[in-house]
Amino acid sequence: MKPIVDLRSDTVTRPSAGMRAAMAAAEVGDDVFGDDPTINALQARTAALFGFEAALFFPTGTQSNLAALMAHCQRGEEFIVGQEAHTYRYEGGGAAVLGSIQPQPLANRPDGTLDLAEVEAAIKIDDPHFAHTRLLALENTIGGKVLAHEYMQAALALAQRRGLATHLDGARIWNAALKLGMPVDRLCAGFGSVSVCLSKGLGTPAGSLLLGSRELIARAVRIRKMLGGGMRQAGILAAAGLYALEHNVARLVDDHENASLLRRGLQDIAALEVEPVQTNMVFVRVPAARCAALKAHLAERGVIAGIGPRTRLVTHLDVNAAGIARAAESFRSFFA
Ligand SMILES: *Cc1c(COP(=O)(O)O)cnc(C)c1O
Repeated sequence: MKPIVDLRSDTVTRPSAGMRAAMAAAEVGDDVFGDDPTINALQARTAALFGFEAALFFPTGTQSNLAALMAHCQRGEEFIVGQEAHTYRYEGGGAAVLGSIQPQPLANRPDGTLDLAEVEAAIKIDDPHFAHTRLLALENTIGGKVLAHEYMQAALALAQRRGLATHLDGARIWNAALKLGMPVDRLCAGFGSVSVCLSKGLGTPAGSLLLGSRELIARAVRIRKMLGGGMRQAGILAAAGLYALEHNVARLVDDHENASLLRRGLQDIAALEVEPVQTNMVFVRVPAARCAALKAHLAERGVIAGIGPRTRLVTHLDVNAAGIARAAESFRSFFA
């Protein structure tokens, strides 16, 4: 049987033999006591890589983002965030539910940015009617699109001028850095905190890191414990992270190339409208009436995809060029 080509997300990857060997060999200890040498090494390594004072390991990006929001904002304060942002839309309302932090969502423009004039207009004056605007949260990449470095600098300058803290959801920051040809420390410089995921393009089974000042990370340690994220011998997971930083960053270029390859394979199909590709995601408009049949047709050919009117196809380290060719061919045979 041919291997499955799973394009639903870059989270579907399975740890490679090398990664599993690194996990099996990991030295561990009780991380709630600060005793896990592999976690400590991953935190130190990531903090240095991103040019931040400190880093903290989390089981998920959702928890890392939430801890960051809670470390920046008190109850009754608010954060400005995009309508499409993960921290607003895809985290179960955790900031509001668990942090008593009010989101102030603003429309993302088609390129993923927020209009900075709208951001500025959304900052509340000091008046008892209003929540206190505390934080600006951005995301890069967002929906597979890269925010330009100049845009992020302009947003940081606005935040600084208006006294807002800043958080960057960098779940796919290495994809952004690759696209921009810029090291992650330069790309993230100036943010009060950054959350990065190891379980997306980097291919680990779990793990995210929050980056910030020593003081912010000290607060995040307490919040992580409260949220149930204090893990014990999780150096087994951190070892996968160290392995991924070593072996799975440079190869993201393959994922970007495969996404472009997939776009080229789909763009001649008249029934489809394929959006331009920037990183490892291809967005395709599919006629709504054909979605269910297309999904079944692909599945019969071993191609798994979340098909909808705006279908998202994601490349990752468990899909190679042959798999992309099979996926494109399966789309073509359906619409032929
Ligand atoms: C996946 C993702 C997260 C959350 O990560 P989990 O580990 O799935 O909780 C946060 N932000 C963005 C942009 C993501 O894509």
